[in-house]
Amino acid sequence: MSDFDLVIRADRVLIGGRWRGHAIGVKDGVITRIGPRHAEWSAREIVSIPSDQVLIPGVVDTHVHVNEPGRTSWEGFASATRAAAAGGVTTIIDMPLNSIPPTTTVEALEAKRSVAASQASVDVGFWGGAIPASLGALRPLHDEGVFGFKAFLSPSGVDEFPHLSAAQLREALAETGQFGGVVIIHAEDPDRLEPFSGGRYYEDFLASRPDASETSAIATIISALRATGGRAHILHLSSAKALNAIRGAKAEGLHLTVETCPHYLVLDAGTIDDGATQFKCCPPVRDSANREALWDALLDGTIDFVASDHSPATAELKLDGDFGRAWGGISGLQVMLAAIANGAREREIPLATALSWLTEKPAAFAGLENKGTIREGARADLVAFAPDRAWTVDPSALEHRNPVSAFGGRTLTGQAVHTWVGGKQAHPHIDEEPPPGTLLRRSTVAPEHPALT
Ligand SMILES: [Zn+2]
Repeated sequence: MSDFDLVIRADRVLIGGRWRGHAIGVKDGVITRIGPRHAEWSAREIVSIPSDQVLIPGVVDTHVHVNEPGRTSWEGFASATRAAAAGGVTTIIDMPLNSIPPTTTVEALEAKRSVAASQASVDVGFWGGAIPASLGALRPLHDEGVFGFKAFLSPSGVDEFPHLSAAQLREALAETGQFGGVVIIHAEDPDRLEPFSGGRYYEDFLASRPDASETSAIATIISALRATGGRAHILHLSSAKALNAIRGAKAEGLHLTVETCPHYLVLDAGTIDDGATQFKCCPPVRDSANREALWDALLDGTIDFVASDHSPATAELKLDGDFGRAWGGISGLQVMLAAIANGAREREIPLATALSWLTEKPAAFAGLENKGTIREGARADLVAFAPDRAWTVDPSALEHRNPVSAFGGRTLTGQAVHTWVGGKQAHPHIDEEPPPGTLLRRSTVAPEHPALT
């Protein structure tokens, strides 16, 4: 009888923001003991991490579009969760669109769960959707364990997920506020979007989705929070021009959190070639000064964390070459950890700081208290990461379904080598085993929520 199912020894383990040598003892999927590097424990499997690798908590990605059922040719649970594991992501929370049906009813949530369960290489949770037809009826999905409700303020890109007006957003915030829920919002104001007739020029596409569309939508969200006392989260912030308003809202004590994405932190509008529609997303990638202001806002806490907004489509839809017709979404799930580690290195930001934006902070946002951290009692979601290993992104070698990447050809320093989900190997993938991921429900213990006290 062994003490543990798995023991991992490493010279550098990230615990509480600091690096130390430790042995990690795992039993029944949970870290049950943390001891000295050479602790004499028995285990069914003992892994010693090479000295060029560090042991970190698995990444928690709260913004992933899996698209199954209904648009599985764009992305499915098997391919998405394999991409996640390969990139050091051990938890994803799936968006309520672009699957068919969208996750706006309990029946649709059950359909998602039943197709995801047997295919999940990493842990999977689900967001619900707030569309005009679901207002007033959000509570049943909350009770079924969704993590919150996604809403758009501008057209979503798919007909079956219509957007909310400003008045309807207030309704959604008031309704979810009654049960301690959160509304997560695509913040572009349709009245500030400019007409765009398509074409091959990125600058024309960018001009059609100006900073003002984001700043206006964010002003709408802030005033709705003030009016309702609800809880809101701004998805995929692109425009740094909104940062001052966000700082003000947070200082005022409104319940507002914000994410940005690896593409906004890495790419630069000034280097996007004509017809290069792999870079199309909404809101758009802006210029390099804007990008640097987003890094600064992560460092000062105005932006809370980073999520991938992994939003694939078929290669045919994505690589159309016309910025009007091409699908607007970037597949960053497998690349996010490396891209952020690489970007932090370029800016001399400590790796531990950058990792907090990918692990403990998104976990806390989602109320996943036993994730995003290495401590006794936490789920054994662990990644052996080689911080100094450089690799070049080859879209055809990534695990997600369609071989398209806005990061293709980019050399990144930092690579996930080995990923465990609940103490079971998720990457490199073992085909014979059932995949190790489980389905998650929102914690029944609500995250700290000042509006309720
Ligand atoms: Zn999204």
